[in-house]
Amino acid sequence: MFEKILVANRGEIAVRIIRACKELNIRTVAVYSEADANSMHVQLADEAICIGKAAASESYLRIDRIISAAEITDVDAIHPGYGFLSENAHFADVCDSCNIRFIGPDSRAMNALEDKAVSRMLARKAGVPTPPGSDGIVENEQDALAVAKRIGYPVMIKAVAGGGGRGMRVAHNDISLVKGYHTARGEAEKAFGNSGVYIEKFIENPHHIEFQILGDHKGRIIHLGERDCSIQRRNQKVVEETPSPLIDHKFRRLRDKMGKAAIKIAELANYTNAGTVEFIVDNTGNYYFLEMNKRIQVEHAITEEVTGIDLVRCQIMIAMGEPLRISQGDVQIKGHAIECRINAEDPFDDFRPSPGRIEMYYQPGGRGVRVDSHAYAGYTIPSAYDSMIGKLVTFGKDRREAMDKMSRALGEYMITGVKTTISFQQAILQDPNFRRGVYSTSFVEQLLSGARRELIEQKG
Ligand code: ADP
Ligand code: ADP
Ligand code: MG
Repeated sequence: MFEKILVANRGEIAVRIIRACKELNIRTVAVYSEADANSMHVQLADEAICIGKAAASESYLRIDRIISAAEITDVDAIHPGYGFLSENAHFADVCDSCNIRFIGPDSRAMNALEDKAVSRMLARKAGVPTPPGSDGIVENEQDALAVAKRIGYPVMIKAVAGGGGRGMRVAHNDISLVKGYHTARGEAEKAFGNSGVYIEKFIENPHHIEFQILGDHKGRIIHLGERDCSIQRRNQKVVEETPSPLIDHKFRRLRDKMGKAAIKIAELANYTNAGTVEFIVDNTGNYYFLEMNKRIQVEHAITEEVTGIDLVRCQIMIAMGEPLRISQGDVQIKGHAIECRINAEDPFDDFRPSPGRIEMYYQPGGRGVRVDSHAYAGYTIPSAYDSMIGKLVTFGKDRREAMDKMSRALGEYMITGVKTTISFQQAILQDPNFRRGVYSTSFVEQLLSGARRELIEQKG
């Protein structure tokens, strides 16, 4: 049994992990940057160590400092959360060589799924469809044009190392492809330190549907159903729900098929611990593998609410070498859960980040409402990190009840001092197409352009 775990992250996910540890009677060590001295995860952990300046490259991404903190405090394991070092195979190896358990897949599985072009090939080997596209990294302009000619426009140029919705661009013809190819490479080099890009067919108005999986060290891999994450802004998730209305209403047979496909990919990579296999689904029910996220995800809580399974607790048990106690047949999906990501951003100013001091803070509660957040009144949101300040999750016996609870809870959520996306989420929840469960990844763009039109008309 682990006695002490270091949490190599910040914000709501660090709090989430500390909570799971406390329930398992495991002591915790927080690491924090100078900007996070007053952060909730520091206050909740048993011990806390400052590891450097605000910039992530000087703190949360510093492997040497995190390992030193782990050695000084004598922990048994490190939980990396999401983002930062969570998908860094080298970090997992360093932990291993220092005799500290990394709570996540081992470096071999991570490498097998590391870059997106490589994992595409792995998916194909598993017999899982991928969007038509290049066989790997596209090395030059001529090859890019040849791929586009073969698959037809529109195409998407994607960074093999991309993440968080960044490093993607769409091209509709040869001219924009050539231009986009070079810009994308330059941007990828700058953002991810890797200029590799690949090309795949741009699927129009698709649905983003992903499957949560869990694998233990005995080779058992199960899935915990899907999450529909099609409500996105600039390829970043805004609202997620489970089960997927698209699957429920239109393509019921896909649940079993895609779940099996997700497991196959994980099996081929000898995957252990928690992970997510992401797909896009087109309007006729074709599904394509996108990528595998080799970590706990932001939206994991909605799966917990409908399955009754604590995913972070499972991650810790699996890392300790415990076999999974649940088989596929035991997984029962009950009810419906929705998550809204609450960001400190101004929806009326192109979602510009709004860091600063939270004056008043009141979070919703009541039956079927869960808030995972590190925010509190008087807390100053630093500008150095992403702007998510909390996740509002509601659970109901069906989709309608979960939506009604979400609208009610959004209405109760009071945060002053900084701008938040609460009103924007409320607009999504009120939208008739969202209410009907009819939406694709273009939903937010359409909603925003409609709102803009209304504003212009009002002014005129
Ligand atoms: P999800 O929300 O499904 O868990 P995201 O892709 O939105 O996955 O990423 C979750 C977190 O990890 C976000 O904070 C995001 O900014 C960060 N992240 C993901 N990939 C990268 C990357 N390659 N570089 C930097 N940050 C990343
Ligand atoms: P990230 O690592 O940033 O999460 P993904 O490959 O998972 O990148 O893609 C993020 C989002 O971008 C998807 O959920 C989808 O909305 C959009 N997207 C990615 N690839 C395609 C594609 N080939 N066609 C259409 N949309 C895509
Ligand atoms: Mg993704």
